Amino acid sequence: ERRDGDQLEFLQAVREVFESLEPVVAKHPEYERNGVLERFVEPERVVKFRVAWTDDEGRVQVNRGYRVQFNSAIGPYKGGLRFHPTVNESVIKFLGFEQILKNSLTGLPMGGGKGGSDFDPKGRSDGEVMRFCQAFMTELQRHIGQFTDVPAGDINVGAREIGYLFGQYKRIRDEYSGVLTGKGLEFGGSLARTEATGYGLCYYTQEALRVLRNDSFQGKTVVVSGSGNVAIFAIEKAQRLGAKVVTCSDSNGYVYDPKGIDLDVVKDIKLGHRGRIKEYAERVPGSEYHEGCRDVWTVPCDIALPCATQNEIDGESARTLVDNGCTVVCEGANMPSTPEAIAVYQGAKLLYGPAKAANAGGVAVSGLEMSQNSYRLSWTFDEVDAKLKQIMEDIVANSLDAAKEYGREGDLMLGANAAGFVKVANAMVAQGIF
Ligand code: NDP
Repeated sequence: ERRDGDQLEFLQAVREVFESLEPVVAKHPEYERNGVLERFVEPERVVKFRVAWTDDEGRVQVNRGYRVQFNSAIGPYKGGLRFHPTVNESVIKFLGFEQILKNSLTGLPMGGGKGGSDFDPKGRSDGEVMRFCQAFMTELQRHIGQFTDVPAGDINVGAREIGYLFGQYKRIRDEYSGVLTGKGLEFGGSLARTEATGYGLCYYTQEALRVLRNDSFQGKTVVVSGSGNVAIFAIEKAQRLGAKVVTCSDSNGYVYDPKGIDLDVVKDIKLGHRGRIKEYAERVPGSEYHEGCRDVWTVPCDIALPCATQNEIDGESARTLVDNGCTVVCEGANMPSTPEAIAVYQGAKLLYGPAKAANAGGVAVSGLEMSQNSYRLSWTFDEVDAKLKQIMEDIVANSLDAAKEYGREGDLMLGANAAGFVKVANAMVAQGIF
């Protein structure tokens, strides 16, 4: 039974990482001498604050806001903001902890952080979302800045929310700087940032398939969960790479389309009018809607790309995937697989691409957005996309090198944890105890 304040998601994330770091720590006694692991799990700072705003009926609403500034050893804190009723300190800490290693893996100078609120934007008007964002930023602005902490989007925080947040920061601080990423193209955003996480996931998967199996997306059947920012652009890139994507979902249910998902319809529903995925089956003949999102994993596939939320694949779903012939799971969402699910992947020798490596494309392009803001120029879509692809291929290579170095050849999970950790740990040792 869960008690209020239990940090179950955070402990789950730490356990997974620390178990795979055992061979790394054994090889580096200086980490133990410098208390690196003990310091690594303790956020440098956790900010928790009241967010009060008025709804369209004039009633006062109160939410809770968070920013976890986890680790700044290799750069300013960097990580998204999530607005969802399930947000609590445990969720933000697990996301911030994962973010440290993910940002390190991109090769760019970014520390780890994460934030958000238990605010639920579903059913709220634009005006309500704006007033909430303004109230949230009125407090957050005192803790962030282009050289200290640069937030971005995450679940339910997209272009609209980033626009309102940026506007409020600028209004209060009287400063035009790259303090947020994922901005609109008119005010400092980067081309290809919207597509980056989904495209990056597919570049990563394609490269891992090539190196480990001499294979590709071509002709594969793919199951995707979610229908938000990550899912939509993962579907788009997987289709362009020759795969047939047969599902997508939202928190109410999933659609199965045996002919392959018609992405224009999904975009029209989700990006056009913030509708429910159920509408897809009403519009596309031959497709089916199923109530409940969990059963999406019962659809047979070669490759599964979870792109919705944490712990969406449990041990049972993982076994069903394997029994139905799935041999690849690469994670677009953060921590979508429970520890039991990961054990199933390992037992069945799946090609398993963990979130912190496979979905690092979003923050990588956020890092490129920061560079463009500092230069005061913008690169073309193709330039950014080419850099993204290179970064994802480098992550596969660096993960495999690290896995080999620590005696677990081909293990992309251990490799990602080790490669991400060593750089941060070395920086922490070099900078002294604090
Ligand atoms: P969006 O808000 O755009 O989309 C989220 C999708 O997941 C929606 O389809 C949503 O359905 C579904 N979903 C959310 N919560 C739940 C839940 N509790 N149960 C079932 N379905 C749920 O978010 P993103 O696409 O940006 O994020 C998806 C995942 O990817 C998250 O884990 C996020 O942390 C991760 N990620 C995002 C990055 C980015 O650049 N955006 C970068 C790296 C990782 P509904 O509309 O019904 O809520």
